[in-house]
Amino acid sequence: MDQKRIGIIGAMEEEVARFKEQMTDTVISKRAGMEFIQGMLCGRDTVVVRSGIGKVNAAVCAQILCDVYEVDYIMNTGVAGSLNAEIEIGDIVISEEALQHDMDATGFGYAPGVIPRMETSVFPADPRLVTLAAEACAKANPDIRVFRGRILSGDQFISDKNTKERLAENFRGLCTEMEGGAVAQTAYLNGVPYLILRAISDKADDSASMAYDTFEEMAIRHTVRLVTELLPRL
Ligand code: SAH
Repeated sequence: MDQKRIGIIGAMEEEVARFKEQMTDTVISKRAGMEFIQGMLCGRDTVVVRSGIGKVNAAVCAQILCDVYEVDYIMNTGVAGSLNAEIEIGDIVISEEALQHDMDATGFGYAPGVIPRMETSVFPADPRLVTLAAEACAKANPDIRVFRGRILSGDQFISDKNTKERLAENFRGLCTEMEGGAVAQTAYLNGVPYLILRAISDKADDSASMAYDTFEEMAIRHTVRLVTELLPRL
């Protein structure tokens, strides 16, 4: 049987802990200070790893998944701040594409977010994974809403109204976080299909830090349910 291997990256331990508990037949190895756990999860060959926070950690992690584990798909799951008034805490955002909002070569006349000398700065997610994830989410989390669209990433925890408004206006993203864009670019460079799944923990405004602490756990429950429903469909 053609068993695909799926890499699952979470920035923080809370985001991957449930998967690790459920895995069987595990083989653990360490690279770049990260613990890669390969084994079976929901009937699928998976590699689960906590990358650490931020784009560099996420990119290094994704590259190891490509080179060492030769994964067929990369999924990045976790929490994010909402940039859209319709998207509430607890809701899920599925990436159709991702870009890095802190890439700034405007001094040379490039638009914000554009990476000079690359053919694209907006990295499309795998359309089949997007569709399957939306279906899985409707089944796994019938009580919340699921949105598909652009996810923004940058090495900044966004927690003020002005920055939030600037990001929403400049980039038209649904939510913002600190890893997905780096995973997306790494996946693109390696020709590996990817998907980002994020549950909203806060609204990326002045209430963000407090909301994050209150709602992180609930948001992660939603992503865990979604991934658990999605894996058998791949
Ligand atoms: N509380 C943590 C720090 C979390 S940083 C600690 O002290 O250890 C925020 C994490 O959640 C990042 O991994 C990022 O991807 C995501 N995130 C959630 N809300 C965000 C926001 N408003 N802006 C940026 N990233 C956010």
